[in-house]
Formats: sequence, structure tokens, C-alpha cells
Amino acid sequence: MDILSIIVPCYNEEEMLPITFESLRNKLSELIEKGKISPESFLLFIDDGSKDKTWELIENENKIHKEVRGLKLAGNVGHQFALTAGLIFAKDICDISISIDADLQDDIDVFEEMVDKYHEGNDIVYGVRNKRKTDSIFKRVTAQTFYRVMNFFGAKTIYNHADFRLMSQRALEQFSKYSEENLYLRGIVPLIGYKTECVYYDRKVRVAGKSKYPLRKMLALAIEGITSFSVKPIRYIVLLGFLSVFLSIAAFVYALVSYFLKTVEPGWTSLIVSIWFLGGVQLISIGLIGEYIGKIYMEVKRRPRYNIEKYTS
Ligand code: UDP
Ligand code: MG
Repeated sequence: MDILSIIVPCYNEEEMLPITFESLRNKLSELIEKGKISPESFLLFIDDGSKDKTWELIENENKIHKEVRGLKLAGNVGHQFALTAGLIFAKDICDISISIDADLQDDIDVFEEMVDKYHEGNDIVYGVRNKRKTDSIFKRVTAQTFYRVMNFFGAKTIYNHADFRLMSQRALEQFSKYSEENLYLRGIVPLIGYKTECVYYDRKVRVAGKSKYPLRKMLALAIEGITSFSVKPIRYIVLLGFLSVFLSIAAFVYALVSYFLKTVEPGWTSLIVSIWFLGGVQLISIGLIGEYIGKIYMEVKRRPRYNIEKYTS
């Protein structure tokens, strides 16, 4: 039977953890009793360099309940890296992983559906939020804009999916080959391939502790996502350059007409045309250099170029 590991990154979650431990342990036992997963399944809590009692709580829980395991990172590296640490650590000791935030805003009742979808042959199952009723309007609007902007700039992500997902062992194996420094999980996971599915749930409010994703961090994540997935922003510079050169033609016509109508000072005509034209040429040049830098950028990532799913000999 398949060993499930539930991977939970935690940063200063002392208020939340007692509740999280209990809910997740109960859920795990329920799934084990139903025969969906192996009795050796476990919870893996990653302490992301917390400053409060998070690690002590994890250690204590591990003494009482063996299915609760802990991994302490040496310092705070942020949610994405903490989760990655957990996924990579678990890839050799489990058959299926489910990642979830410590605040349990994501619905643990869909674990079963996720595992079922895995047994139907899906290697990745995304948890997707139905609505964002419980989030504040501000959080909702910023989050929605986030997805739109990301998709526009070429970082394709699953709409309304955060880092709540099931990944099979082989999906984790392939994921571990993405050795890039700028890590944006939601963008990388869809690149892995394999059969995937979504399960839908309603997102709850945080019951204890505070959100560690203020607007500042959301913006940072957005910029990280865009810049680590596409060179589109650079490409727009070239477009801007062409636009400027095109406008210089319009400026030229306008300046010429003004010149003959004698409505302008001498010298203005040549000046205004040169400004638009040279501005455009400069933008195009910068954009072209950018294109090459973009290529170098994509090369140095050393991403796996493909992932073989099956072979018939
Ligand atoms: N987290 C982490 N390291 C950090 C910040 C957050 O491991 O530096 C964890 C946090 O404990 C939680 C998850 O990442 O389990 C998501 O954080 P949070 O709930 O604060 O974000 P939100 O749901 O508000 O976007
Ligand atoms: Mg949260």
C-alpha cells in the first residue's frame, strides 16, 4: 500500500500547531482505517527557522505520536524553499505527498479525493479553491490580479491553486531535477507533465496566528514568478522601441507640416524627430541585448528538457 506523507512548512506557527497536529493526525488515521494509504504514512513538519516554540512543539508531538515527524531548517528560507526542502526530503521515503499550509485554510477533507485521483492514475492533483468568500476583499482582488498578471507575462499557473497539491513519488523525483535558484513552485509543477487532475474546495479563514504573506511578500512572489518563468518583460521593451520609431514617423509628418505653416521655432523640427527616432532605436537595442540575456538566463537554469513517462520495448 502507498505511504502518504503530508508536508507542512511552518514559520512561527506555535498558535496554530496544536490544532494542526490534531486535525492532520485524525485525518491520517481515518485514511489508514479506510485502507486508502499505508499505516506507515506520516506527517512531515518543516520548521522554517521559526523564532517561537514551533520546533519544540514538533519535537514534543513526535515523542507522543510517531507518525509526526519534523525537519528543522537551519534558518528562515521562506515558504517556497521550506516546502521544497520537505518535498525533496520526502521523495525517497514516501509514495505520495500532499503539501498543505500549517494554518489549514485548505480543506483537509479533500485528501481522500486527492488520493483516489492518484489511484486513478494521476501523478499530480491540484487543490483548487472554489471561491474566495472568506478572504478579505483586498486579499481577493490582489490575488486575482496576481494570476492575471502572471499569466499575461507567461508564467502559466493553475487558477486559484496555491501550494496545496498531491504529488506522486515520480513527480517529486522529476521535480527535484529543477535545480534553479529562483523557485516558484506553482509555475514549475505544471512543467513536470504526467496526468493531472484538480479537486475543488472552499478556502477557510485562518483560525489562529497571522498571515505571513502580506502584500509586500505577494508582490515579491509575483515578480519572482514572472521573472523566473519568462523573458516576456524584456520582449516588451523591443515592442516599445518599435512603437517609438513608428511615432517618430508621425512626429516627422507633424513637424514638417508645422514647419511649412511656419508655426514653430527653427530647430524644433529636427530636434523633435531625432528625439523620437533615437529613443526608439535605443529601446530596440536595449531590448535586443535583453533577448540575449534572456536566452542566457533560460540556459543557466539547466532545467530538464523532457520527462519520459513510458517506454514500450
Ligand atoms: N511559511 C514558511 N516560511 C515563511 C513564511 C511562511 O514556511 O517564511 C509557511 C507558514 O507557516 C504557512 C505557509 O507557509 O504554513 C503559508 O503562510 P501563510 O498562511 O502565512 O500565508 P497565506 O495563507 O496568508 O498566503
Ligand atoms: Mg494561510
